[in-house]
Amino acid sequence: MQQATIQIVRPASPVTELAAPQRWEVAQIEALFALPFHELLYQAQTVHRANFDPAEVQLSTLLSIKTGGCAENCGYCPQSAAHDTGVEATALMKVDEVLVAARAAQAAGATRFCMGAAWRSPKERDIEKVSALISAVKGLGLETCVTLGMLGDGQAEALRDAGLDYYNHNIDSAPDKYADIVQTRQFEDRLDTLERVRGAGVKVCCGGIVGMGETRTQRAGLIAELANMEPYPESVPINHLVQVEGTPMHGTEVLDPFEFVRTIAAARITMPHTRVRLSAGRQALGEAVQALCFMAGANSIFYGDKLLVTGNPDVTADQALLQKLGMRAA
Ligand code: SF4
Repeated sequence: MQQATIQIVRPASPVTELAAPQRWEVAQIEALFALPFHELLYQAQTVHRANFDPAEVQLSTLLSIKTGGCAENCGYCPQSAAHDTGVEATALMKVDEVLVAARAAQAAGATRFCMGAAWRSPKERDIEKVSALISAVKGLGLETCVTLGMLGDGQAEALRDAGLDYYNHNIDSAPDKYADIVQTRQFEDRLDTLERVRGAGVKVCCGGIVGMGETRTQRAGLIAELANMEPYPESVPINHLVQVEGTPMHGTEVLDPFEFVRTIAAARITMPHTRVRLSAGRQALGEAVQALCFMAGANSIFYGDKLLVTGNPDVTADQALLQKLGMRAA
């Protein structure tokens, strides 16, 4: 009987920092996506291990400090006033309320506390109030991050002076997909705010969402936009769309989980030093896919039972998962 021939294929050299291009073309990132899955993970692991301890995961907790009633119409977001999702609009939380949540997050092991407010852009009086929240949280010894929408002149500086470490402002998707997702602002508006944040010396947290009906080329386009920022963001949250009833994105075809893992790997390879964060949608991925994401170079998670207004794995489940995988909090 004839034996099957086993062909041994040597893996291509992993993309190291030295080999990485100065500027990533979308086609180069698409070529990463097209690699055999094991090969892509090998490359991502190699880059990851050259830059981080692969057993460490940074834990961030996100609190919605002002929920709902937002004037923007982001098609994925249950907090937009344009969508009928049953989310009740609330007033901005007070310092003592925020401190209760921040202390609990810190006690559970979070090192960064992120505060999100559903505004198109904050007013001066909002900046003053949020500055007080930032100073109070910073006083606990936590890293601080806020996401407040588009910033005007001097606002990033005021937040920085209050003790802000990171400003989150996601670009959501590739530039050519953007108009399908939100019509109340332009892609360039996002870049303007990111420039103000950088200009003030505040670190940038910027990522996107996949599973919004984009093509693979557009997923590669999102990663290219992020990787080609100079410098690229210190923190890159990758969200897997959580489909909320009442939002225009509800009913979108669900993205294959392997494609999500590929997106994580592409982010790791193209942004070797960034914290790649598993963000919204982690609950639906399950433990095995999350483990693959860690193999692909994810090294940060949102930690806590709620993410703004959508669900998140509970803290005990996360601690158990990290223990099962032999991983630990950074
Ligand atoms: S994602 Fe942010 S800006 Fe867009 S509608 Fe929701 S809260 Fe408003």
